[in-house]
Amino acid sequence: MPEPEVDEVRFAAAQRLVKLSALRTSPIDDDRCATCLYYLELDQGPAFCWHEKLQTLVGPEWWCHFWEMTDE
Ligand code: SF4
Repeated sequence: MPEPEVDEVRFAAAQRLVKLSALRTSPIDDDRCATCLYYLELDQGPAFCWHEKLQTLVGPEWWCHFWEMTDE
């Protein structure tokens, strides 16, 4: 079986995204993805962030620079 190859273009894009958004896997105070306007739950696992600059899977305890309070 051949070794899987890293898609360098996608890897670099992911690194840019993390740098741009300061995305992290832990909350800041009470601010977390699960309480963010852009957090779209798929089920109980990872969710989808629909912020225009992210558009990626995230976890409920994650946080990024674009965090925004929900309207509720
Ligand atoms: S904008 Fe940031 S804090 Fe909000 S859901 Fe997306 S990754 Fe999480």
